[in-house]
Amino acid sequence: MTATNIEIPDELLPADGRFGAGPARIRKAQIEALNSAAADVLGTSHRQAPVKNLVGRIRTGLAELFNLPSGYEVVLGNGGSTAFWDVAAFGLVRERAAHATFGEFGQKFAKATDEAPHLQDSLILKAEPGTSAVPSPAALAEATGNSDVTADVYAWPHNETSTGVATTITRPEGIDEDSLVVIDATSGAGGLPVDITATDVYYFAPQKNMGSDGGLWVAIMSPKAIARAQEIKDSGRWIPASLDLVTAIENSRKDQTYNTPAVTTLVLLAEQIDWINGNGGLEWATARTRETSGFVYDWADAAEVAHPFVENPEDRSSVVTTIDFDDSVDAALVASVLRNNGIVDVEPYRKLGRNQLRIATFVSVDPEDVKALLASIDFVIDALA
Ligand SMILES: *Cc1c(COP(=O)(O)O)cnc(C)c1O
Repeated sequence: MTATNIEIPDELLPADGRFGAGPARIRKAQIEALNSAAADVLGTSHRQAPVKNLVGRIRTGLAELFNLPSGYEVVLGNGGSTAFWDVAAFGLVRERAAHATFGEFGQKFAKATDEAPHLQDSLILKAEPGTSAVPSPAALAEATGNSDVTADVYAWPHNETSTGVATTITRPEGIDEDSLVVIDATSGAGGLPVDITATDVYYFAPQKNMGSDGGLWVAIMSPKAIARAQEIKDSGRWIPASLDLVTAIENSRKDQTYNTPAVTTLVLLAEQIDWINGNGGLEWATARTRETSGFVYDWADAAEVAHPFVENPEDRSSVVTTIDFDDSVDAALVASVLRNNGIVDVEPYRKLGRNQLRIATFVSVDPEDVKALLASIDFVIDALA
């Protein structure tokens, strides 16, 4: 048998073969919603009630999902999480940001603030891929050898999608009362537990655990973060209009975006939020991702040729799992055989460069599909041996 003609028996295959970490699985019911009720709203003005009601549904749905304290607001704009890094560099960081980075996405935000000409060089606590870190003043002082480690924004990812590491969100010990905690929840939001009161900005793009399409950013902001945005804007700093956070806040309060949003993305997102809330909210969602990811980690722990990439079980993500393989298995070949059989996007993050499979266990992924995927992987490994 050659790799290209390995056929996985139908009874082993998952019902849905999409296991990518982003863009990620969009449930069929969401797509049906696009065809039915939402059909009226597609192709209509984003300044009129139907689209504004959709944005309103997203904002109230997220307030319910994250149990927002009074004063927190749901703000949204175009451009995804990558654009939000620039929004934050212009509109949230007063003088200096501190970051913990332990993979590609955390690093990219750190680079954005570090290179911004109107800001001081950022304080960056860098940890090895596969481990986690939190930018507490003590850890920053040790890492930088500098005793002045005050910053006005402290940032790190809830879930580092490139490595499958999740963090627990708490305010770092010893930071100023006035400092903001800014969390990249792009892949973690709605799939990992969070106490939103520990954050000032909890932001995400909806094409991962939130099961929608790309192109949008959503930021849940504390009153302190909203006041910071206003303070910076009032200071006269030059801010490009499309990256202006105060403009985004003002539009969001009217259930609008500054410029035209992708209405399909809004529909899919609203459907996903309602689905999670209808099933029991964040508690339900996090229990489900914990169970689903547990199948992968248990399988890898028991396997002779595989093991979880993230060594410390406490760091292992419930929404993105990463499994390393021994040299006896060519993970890229396994992924390509799976792809030929309709199981897609289990390749590792490209720049990580490991002999690895990455399997997203977002809330939209049926636990039974993950069991079937693992059986399919076993079959392929046997067939290649
Ligand atoms: C995917 C991802 C991003 C980038 O999101 P875009 O919407 O493509 O800009 C940022 N941070 C994390 C943690 C991600 O997983």
